[in-house]
Amino acid sequence: MNDQEISQFNFKMLKGKIDCRILKSLSAMGIEKPTPIQAKTLPHMLLGEDIIGAAKTGSGKTLAFLIPIVDKLINLGFSKNKGVGCLIISPTRELALQTNEVLKKLLINIPLSNSLIIGGEKKLKEVALLQKGVNIIVGTPGRILDHLENTKNFSCKNLKCLVLDEADKLLEAGFEKHIVGIVKKLPNTRQTILFSATIDDKIESLARLTLKNNPKVISIKDN
Ligand code: ADP
Ligand code: MG
Repeated sequence: MNDQEISQFNFKMLKGKIDCRILKSLSAMGIEKPTPIQAKTLPHMLLGEDIIGAAKTGSGKTLAFLIPIVDKLINLGFSKNKGVGCLIISPTRELALQTNEVLKKLLINIPLSNSLIIGGEKKLKEVALLQKGVNIIVGTPGRILDHLENTKNFSCKNLKCLVLDEADKLLEAGFEKHIVGIVKKLPNTRQTILFSATIDDKIESLARLTLKNNPKVISIKDN
């Protein structure tokens, strides 16, 4: 997709291609046109490809993965309490909270369940939610791994998609081991997406540990 095509792209043009309830939610959020990272990654995400997406902070990476993920789980027939379809890993509680807020807005009128897994005082509440079978989890690496290892009747065996969000910050915070531990507990057939503000050798090495070979790399250069 070239710059001109991106500038003419409008979410309404996706009518019939992605679930109309997602388009309604975007419209209710006041979002009409995809940002460049959204426009460039969306077609690949919808095809189920593994992706490394890089664009600076504030460029709209959250919706770049949330829109196709929600569409994918709807298409696969996920519904409330049917188990985990997608895991979104964030480097901090604050970022996980923000992502979960955007997800909640997107899921208005869509019968998928979501839950924030960030630890703190609320571990027992998290256990109850996870045992009920939540569809989309947004959380921090340590706490997600803790639940995968220790929470009875919680598994990600039907997981279809893993997102490593703000991967540069995940690495800065020293979470590589947690991520590798989480990935070991997930099905290999999943789609994996890595988003980051920057790409360097460390990000590429994390991608080799977590994504399929030859992921699609989409990098939006700053103007
Ligand atoms: P990043 O993860 O790249 O740092 P975010 O996903 O947090 O960026 O988005 C930054 C801001 O841009 C948010 O306030 C979000 O609501 C807004 N935004 C995202 N996508 C669009 C869009 N297509 N049109 C207008 N605003 C958008
Ligand atoms: Mg982000």
